[in-house]
Amino acid sequence: MPSASPPSASPTPGRPLPARPSPTRRPTPSARPTRSATRSAPAPSRGTAAVPGGAVVVLDPGHNGGNASHPEIINQLVPAGFGQYKPCNTTGTASLDGYPEHAYNFDVALRARAILAARGVTVLLTRGSDTGVGPCVNDRAAFGNTRRAAAVVAIHADGHDGGHGFHVIEAAQPPAGVAVAAASHRLAVAVHDRFRAESGFGPSTYIGWNGYDLRGDLAGLNLSLRPTVFIECGNMRDAADAARMESAAGRQRAALAIADGILAYLAAR
Ligand code: ZN
Repeated sequence: MPSASPPSASPTPGRPLPARPSPTRRPTPSARPTRSATRSAPAPSRGTAAVPGGAVVVLDPGHNGGNASHPEIINQLVPAGFGQYKPCNTTGTASLDGYPEHAYNFDVALRARAILAARGVTVLLTRGSDTGVGPCVNDRAAFGNTRRAAAVVAIHADGHDGGHGFHVIEAAQPPAGVAVAAASHRLAVAVHDRFRAESGFGPSTYIGWNGYDLRGDLAGLNLSLRPTVFIECGNMRDAADAARMESAAGRQRAALAIADGILAYLAAR
């Protein structure tokens, strides 16, 4: 889960953090042009859709396995965009029987990288192991910027008391202009649609709207100049979602769905 920073984390306490988006600002995927709304389209990883050569995709598996042992590093405040500051990184959540989110995120990212690499896509990860510390959230955003990524997908799992299902998170305040914002939305719809169709997870029952949410407090969205979305693959505190996450087959299915969403986005550019 990309945790929201408490108001006390801001060095400018007089300046309120942006509120969570109101329902009147909810994403309206059906009102925007999208190809992925065509449910009859073949899944790209099994179809013949062209994949542009040389595309660089950044996958950002949230958190890291060493974070909990180094609070002095991960609790340092870093810029999170639009005047906000947040901790460098957080430990993430875990299932009720102790399977950690950082391990899930990293394994799904490795699996998605393998699927995409087999299709000729160059995939870069923001961290190279699940035993390190960080990187900080602002550095993760900069990673995609400096590599000029065609798409950036941050992979997370949520920890919520009650409810189940996945949601894709878009920037409440897109930072890089209308063209990048539109591309981010196309990426969001592509990943959402393939994840809904292929992962086994349904849209979230506890947050957002039909598997979409907007947030204004995530550095990974606020500081990214490339088409970027977050996905919360499911709720680790829900027994059925957690069982799916703790099985290798379930992680492969989630990875395939994310990869297919990215491939659909790349093919439609
Ligand atoms: Zn997370």
